[in-house]
Amino acid sequence: MSSIPQYPTSVITGGAGFLGSHLSDYLLARGHRVIALDNLITGNVANIEHLAGNDQFTFIKHDVTEYIYLPGEIDYIFHFASPASPIDYLELPIQTLKVGALGTHKALGLARDKGARFLLASTSEVYGDPLEHPQRETYWGNVNPIGPRGVYDEAKRFAEAITMAYHRAHGVATRIVRIFNTYGPRMRPNDGRVVPAFTVQALKGEPLTVFGEGRQTRSFCYVSDLVAGIYRLMLSDCSEPVNIGNPREMSVREFAETIIRLCASASTIEFHPLPEDDPQVRQPNIDKARQVLDWAPTMALEEGLLATIEYFKGLIAKGAI
Ligand code: UDP
Repeated sequence: MSSIPQYPTSVITGGAGFLGSHLSDYLLARGHRVIALDNLITGNVANIEHLAGNDQFTFIKHDVTEYIYLPGEIDYIFHFASPASPIDYLELPIQTLKVGALGTHKALGLARDKGARFLLASTSEVYGDPLEHPQRETYWGNVNPIGPRGVYDEAKRFAEAITMAYHRAHGVATRIVRIFNTYGPRMRPNDGRVVPAFTVQALKGEPLTVFGEGRQTRSFCYVSDLVAGIYRLMLSDCSEPVNIGNPREMSVREFAETIIRLCASASTIEFHPLPEDDPQVRQPNIDKARQVLDWAPTMALEEGLLATIEYFKGLIAKGAI
């Protein structure tokens, strides 16, 4: 681990999003001053409203595909801005490509200018519909560049490429985390992802919309585990990509049954067509994170899901959904 300034300043792009807001909380708790940038197209100020009045926290509404001007010293830049759920990037294909390409370029430019360390939030989607299972960082992926998910997958692949280019050509200290399915409070109830979709459906007694036959698999990591791993990666000396996720893998069908059980719901399961290019399997190999970062997830799925279910119950009680 390298030395940390006593009162570091961290910039988080996408700071009002699900992950960005949890990362803000984590860094503030460790004495960082945090500047959160977000254009709020998928982020939500409700995720950071508890930080209003905290003089270590600044929120700036800004589209990071435009030039980023910030005065003063910056130690760390966490580049998290992007639509991140399949229906978001289907609805926002150009914005998704722009933030992955132009936004990453601007954020790297800021890092170079400030001599800051830069961490890119990449994704398991760089592996596409993987032909290697579980996925190791050395796997190059199986991505359809022109399919509906291509806008996200290729934007993140470009983002990784330009991040490595800034590292090699300009000597910027860069880190790349490949984030696998992550869940927890502050996910958007209507972002279409399986955790909020099934949880809200189960809590409302509606049928759970399982796509395909539900045989496709995912592996779910609780947000606090993810953020802890990302922080370790930022402080490490590792400029190669690192998977962060929870290797506990299950089918979507099994996941639906788990949610129904944990919500004590009477909901049934309804089968819908499988979206195009939906990866059939996904499970991180986290050997590298274990070895290089001494990191592994600690939150049990049921415990994390119960905390997440409480969050969505709260939204329903408030009449927010
Ligand atoms: N899924 C589902 N029903 C839903 C939403 C998602 O069966 O209402 C499936 C989806 O087809 C995928 C998995 O759940 O196989 C995870 O989907 P999600 O949108 O959460 O993210 P992905 O892992 O595909 O990026």
